[in-house]
Amino acid sequence: MQHFPIFLDLSGRPVLVLGAGEAAARKADLLRRAGADLRRAARFAPDLLAGCALAIGADAPEADLQALADAARAAGIPCNIVDRPDLCTFIMPAIIERDPLTIAVSSGGAAPVLARLLRARIEAAVPPAFGRLAVLAAHFRDTLRRRLPDLGTRRRVLEQAFTGPVADLVFAGAEDAAAAAFAAAIEGAAPAEGCVFLVGGGPGAPDLLTLRAQRLLGEADAIVHDRLVGDGVLDLARRDAVRIHVGKARAHHCMRQEDINALLIRLAREGRRVVRLKGGDPFIFGRGGEEVEALRAAGVRCEVVPGVTAALACAAQALIPLTHRGIARSVILVTGHTREGRLDVDFAALARHRGTLAVYMGIVSLPQLSDGLLAAGMDPRMPAALIERGGTAQHRMLRGTLGDLAARAQGWGSFGPALVLIGEAVARGGGHAGAAVAEPVAAA
Ligand code: SAH
Repeated sequence: MQHFPIFLDLSGRPVLVLGAGEAAARKADLLRRAGADLRRAARFAPDLLAGCALAIGADAPEADLQALADAARAAGIPCNIVDRPDLCTFIMPAIIERDPLTIAVSSGGAAPVLARLLRARIEAAVPPAFGRLAVLAAHFRDTLRRRLPDLGTRRRVLEQAFTGPVADLVFAGAEDAAAAAFAAAIEGAAPAEGCVFLVGGGPGAPDLLTLRAQRLLGEADAIVHDRLVGDGVLDLARRDAVRIHVGKARAHHCMRQEDINALLIRLAREGRRVVRLKGGDPFIFGRGGEEVEALRAAGVRCEVVPGVTAALACAAQALIPLTHRGIARSVILVTGHTREGRLDVDFAALARHRGTLAVYMGIVSLPQLSDGLLAAGMDPRMPAALIERGGTAQHRMLRGTLGDLAARAQGWGSFGPALVLIGEAVARGGGHAGAAVAEPVAAA
């Protein structure tokens, strides 16, 4: 963040606008709307700055602009010279006015045109009457605090008002009806009932989240997440939500499953909206089933939001169709996790099945898995691929065959979660099954 955004209260405070042209007039107009006590001048004189909260220069002789910038800097007064980033100590954002809501967009001076394009999009997305919702909320502020002392309940009532019928009435211009509906919502509000949303965070890229997951992240009071969840995904979470990392890395579990269950139950009983965020899909090797059982046994309301699981993300990344007409008629998702060093899978059944195998948590046990499948009669020439961090910008892929993938993977070094795909359809993706090098998937 190159520039720190703040909103200044300029009402009644002196602000200098130097310059006589169009640009200066536009700035003066904006500042007047913000209630500033304007000082206009065509030429600079040091006295003009006395007591000013801000100074802006445009369309004035170069020497005057320079003098203004120097004097403002010396006096510690924020100064903006239009189209002269070298002379500015603050920049003016593109502004969307929905009084009392104000939205400001800045590209940090890098691409003002882009900021203006974004402003146009926001203008379109935020109805002009939006600000009236804020006015309505302000009107009820004291009542809200008095009637609903619990913060969680208050927040829920406000969220419902801002997204439901109250908002619809405001947008339709029916302010009185909106106020009545709002008052009724406050009277009828029950204490917040906590709930837990088990949310699939996808393979790591924020734009592979579902819209529902994104919305819930923005509304959560508490977020309990794993190591697999990407930072970009967490950035979408509500800023003031409590974040609890219960991450599990292979062999060093941070928190036992029972403790995670107990934590979720406790947070929900405190009346919070809890998002239990997991990599991929909660119900695919995510222990989501156990959490749902524990929550239901405790009488806590819960809901599951599916996510893009690693097999789908990796296959898509590598252009490998998991099913393919005439070649792969089924997909098996299997874990390569071992118990006391042993893989507990039915090799004969896996070798017999004529489709695509997606092996989760399979790196460490890859040699054991290949040996088992080969012993059960699977063809050593069967195409196979190892895909690391699929669905993210850091993805890598190693292609091979069932016979040689394990040996190749040894020299490869692992940096992140990786998935093994095995089956005829794997050869369909991008490159060919015999490719010897680790290749970025995008180049395949
Ligand atoms: N619930 C998750 C899986 C959790 S098990 C899901 O649905 O995807 C953890 C395993 O998932 C890892 O060991 C790895 O095999 C796989 N995995 C998760 N994210 C991955 C990614 N971005 N790329 C490749 N494999 C991934």
